[in-house]
Amino acid sequence: MQDADPKLIELLRQGKRILLFTGAGISTGSGIPDFRGPEGVWKRRQPVYYHDFMRSEAARIEHWEFKLEGWAGYRDAKPNATHEAIVRLEKAGKVEAVVTQNIDGLHQKAGVAAERVIELHGSMFSVVCVSCGDRSPMKEALARVEAGEADPDCPRCGGILKSATVMFGQRLDPGVFARAERAARGCDLFLAVGSTLTVEPAASLCGIAAASGAALVIVNAEPTPYDTLAAEVIREPIGTAVPRITRQLLGNPRGPGA
Ligand code: ZN
Repeated sequence: MQDADPKLIELLRQGKRILLFTGAGISTGSGIPDFRGPEGVWKRRQPVYYHDFMRSEAARIEHWEFKLEGWAGYRDAKPNATHEAIVRLEKAGKVEAVVTQNIDGLHQKAGVAAERVIELHGSMFSVVCVSCGDRSPMKEALARVEAGEADPDCPRCGGILKSATVMFGQRLDPGVFARAERAARGCDLFLAVGSTLTVEPAASLCGIAAASGAALVIVNAEPTPYDTLAAEVIREPIGTAVPRITRQLLGNPRGPGA
């Protein structure tokens, strides 16, 4: 397990514009549930679909109950060793963008520059008005829910308010996806960490990067549909693999090689 990966280290050494693509697997170590995994939330509970959310007050009430239930977990979550290793890569000037499927904000909490983080599925920490687009903090909306407004409306225009996350049945924000596509076309190494690479169109970014000439490296516990395209596939647990690779590349964080 502790063996060096000479091929991978060489790829990382050569990579000048690395795109980090991250999924749920990197946040489970911080106590964030993996919604789609075998023990995932969606095995116990029906997600609220965008179509229903827009048409039914009952669906919106359920949406807010669910957000309130999960809130403390997101608010209190701390970045783990994988998030910290990614920050080291970024500070070393290797990382062009961090494209994430996660809504937990842990890359920014760990210290990755916010402008480098592209949140494909939005953020749990904001709410957005579907009419006027006004964004405000999730904690303010949840305080209203707790105070008895089961379906809080937009303070500016009275429109429907929702979490700034992409719901089932809702399109990804085209502007956000376009940024991610540009980053995928421009990177020289696409490092996918902790994603099953099964949720589209997010996963298609791998193919876009590979078609543009980038090397693809996949770190995930389970096989992914893109493994055959990859220059290297690492099956080791993410929480040990990513910090180890980073140490091999950049030296020990507290040692003279840091
Ligand atoms: Zn509004």
